[in-house]
Amino acid sequence: MSNSASKQTTEFLSAQHKLVIGGAEVGSASGESFETYDPAFGKVLASVQHAKQADVDAAVASAQAAQLVWQKMAPSERAALLMRFADLIERDTAWISEVESLDSGKPKLHIAAVDIPLAVGALRYNAGWCTKLAGETIPVSAPDMHVYTRREPVGVVAAIVPWNFPLCQACFKIAPALAAGCTVILKPAEQTPLSALILGKLALEAGIPPGVLNVLTGEGATTGQALVEHPGVAKISFTGSEEVGKHIARSASKTLKHVSLELGGKNPNIIFADCDVDAAASVAAGAIFFYSGQVCSAGSRLMVDAAVYDRVVDRVVSEAKQLKLGHGLNADTTMGPLISEDQLARVNGFVELSRKGGIEVAIGGARGKGDLASGSFYEPTVLCGADDNASVVKEEIFGPVLTIQKFNSLDDLVPRANNSNFGLAAGIWTRDMAKAHAAATAIQAGTVWINTYNQFDAAVGWGGFKQSGYGKDNGREGLDKYLQTKTVWVNYAQ
Ligand code: NAD
Repeated sequence: MSNSASKQTTEFLSAQHKLVIGGAEVGSASGESFETYDPAFGKVLASVQHAKQADVDAAVASAQAAQLVWQKMAPSERAALLMRFADLIERDTAWISEVESLDSGKPKLHIAAVDIPLAVGALRYNAGWCTKLAGETIPVSAPDMHVYTRREPVGVVAAIVPWNFPLCQACFKIAPALAAGCTVILKPAEQTPLSALILGKLALEAGIPPGVLNVLTGEGATTGQALVEHPGVAKISFTGSEEVGKHIARSASKTLKHVSLELGGKNPNIIFADCDVDAAASVAAGAIFFYSGQVCSAGSRLMVDAAVYDRVVDRVVSEAKQLKLGHGLNADTTMGPLISEDQLARVNGFVELSRKGGIEVAIGGARGKGDLASGSFYEPTVLCGADDNASVVKEEIFGPVLTIQKFNSLDDLVPRANNSNFGLAAGIWTRDMAKAHAAATAIQAGTVWINTYNQFDAAVGWGGFKQSGYGKDNGREGLDKYLQTKTVWVNYAQ
């Protein structure tokens, strides 16, 4: 562990980590555990429990029992508890950021500035909905009938989240589910289990009743799969890879669970010549290199008007040169490591294939040098001249690798931008608002940013089109998926 970690972080890491089930911290029934690593240099951070079928059964039973209490609690009281939960996360920003940084490799300053405010924002936004989950009355043809609807929680939710935004992805799911009156079993990714355990403890400290938020650490194929197959789980709220998302949809269909899937992206970021080109290129660099490109919304395909192509390439390369690769706890680090050596090998494989295919590597294309050479660090990389069907343009790399391609007109651009199985997000840069809206309409993506990139807010729905999944996180739609509507017919004739 880095020397710069605080006392609280050191104490947390050296404590025994247990599962959170029914308000108690318990060891796994099998006694099995696994280790979590600092991805920078592979140092062991902590040992956590490996939840298996018996633990999943216990967590589901506790969530089902707590469901009755939670659902019946006065909405204003539920709201107050969610607000308190948010306050506690905010109170602990400094050391939670360190733990999350050590576990994920992400710079701690980014976690404090981005991840924690998003997590806290999701809880506060959804707390506001607790008191506003109204049904409706429906006029019908039959005489003397009063028909009304009730918005009821779907039941026990399994929230399965990835390693790239462990804390805030968890809160994007916990917050609306709890607001809707559901109880939750949170399963963090095996690479980054620690912040979920902190969430489990803080929920109890906030006064959220035992069993309302349970946390099971474990692997996808065991813990995750057992949740997906468990008949007592009503809904799977998943964020992760396309491959696992499709597998979950198939498995969950056997018990006809509600399923929402936030999957991958290969997002076009489009720069027209008439925009503020330097600003666009500078943001474009941030759009790919933030968290080393391990972001579903990463602007990984930069498409540039031929008239300003050279200028944009120069600017993006110069931004890449200014990034400071390093350990996430260092105050001057602007880009941390990749999550693992396996991920680094995968990223480098795409770059090597591109090199062999004659694609120009304008900068980067290698692992970190000097002191970083023994860690999972990869240089910010810019590839120029790839054609539309190159694997580096088609596939989600999930690393700091940007392709820059030219286009000649809106008509040339749109089919190429849409030539992807994914449809998560897109960026458009132009001062011509008619063109901006035409492009925003034509692009197949769940989110389009115009003259900005990577903007998120708890009030705004987030989710993809096509193979990027279905069901939104955040916003009104993010809440709706945890609710089901009951219709009640009342015959009031004497
Ligand atoms: P992953 O699919 O490998 O794992 C995600 C989670 O699923 C983990 O908790 C894992 O343990 C679990 N899991 C794996 N197999 C399972 C199974 N059989 N049953 C149940 N759970 C299982 O993804 P990852 O590598 O952790 O994350 C990277 C992926 O996540 C990328 O594709 C990225 O684009 C995507 N992502 C999407 C969004 C979004 O909002 N659309 C946000 C972040 C990440």
